[in-house]
Amino acid sequence: MSFLNRLPLCVGQKLTELYFRTRFRSIATLQGECVFPKMQVKILPALQDNYMYLLICPDTKEAAIVDPVEPDTVLSSVEKEHVSLVSVLTTHHHWDHAGGNEKLMKKLSKSIPVYGGDDRIGALSDKVTQGDTFNVGNLKVTCLFTPCHTTGHICYYVESPNGDKCVFTGDTLFQGGCGRFFEGTPEQMYSALIEKLSSLPDDTKVFCGHEYTLQNMSFAKNVEPNSEVIAKRIQWAEEKRANNHPTVPSTIADEKSWNPFMRVHERSVQTHAGETDPIKTMGSLRREKDSFKG
Ligand SMILES: [Zn+2]
Repeated sequence: MSFLNRLPLCVGQKLTELYFRTRFRSIATLQGECVFPKMQVKILPALQDNYMYLLICPDTKEAAIVDPVEPDTVLSSVEKEHVSLVSVLTTHHHWDHAGGNEKLMKKLSKSIPVYGGDDRIGALSDKVTQGDTFNVGNLKVTCLFTPCHTTGHICYYVESPNGDKCVFTGDTLFQGGCGRFFEGTPEQMYSALIEKLSSLPDDTKVFCGHEYTLQNMSFAKNVEPNSEVIAKRIQWAEEKRANNHPTVPSTIADEKSWNPFMRVHERSVQTHAGETDPIKTMGSLRREKDSFKG
């Protein structure tokens, strides 16, 4: 783009905008899937970098949708998979997650439960909190109350009958990072990431709310520059993104190995933050990440 530098500033800016808009269209993320013997997760990209997830019980052909911000995409996937949509799982009230709930309800022929932990969620029918459970076919869903990004944020932990596990983490836990503390404190994010999510089984697959992996791993590298795990994951993620593939899912074990916000007890991370207390480390990392330009 060096020729842009030689153009008058306003023309250069317009062309730069055009370049990014054109480029953005061409890098729309492709759909993906994660198939277990007794559980399937369809990865449905939405908006700029959001993920919706269609969770399917293959035994009963019942399905739930996580954060259906684009109802038409959801309904196409439901039709294509020949499944019956039985519930909506909302992680939090932000419009890019909950903003499609009411529209989806209008398009459905019957009313189905809309789960969530915040009264600000559109079409909410079943308010849930820590430890609440319900089923999607033969899949057991357990709610984890993880306030901080928003005061009513819920993560959904799912177990299949033969022991496969996944968790939908919305904007609390991202691959290599965590959500901004819009309505909460470092203590709350510590509770969410370290006390709740870190205690899930290591092989739990993590499906987060956004494709932020490369930005987050760039920050992780800045925190732990000598980490081979981080360097390898960056290389892996760059290849995935070059082919427009999602980088989700990771696992809880993965996140403990490379995500600085899951590693606030590690001396290397505390040293970077200039702290010795894990909660203060959490706060310091978040402040640094808020203005980090990778
Ligand atoms: Zn959010």
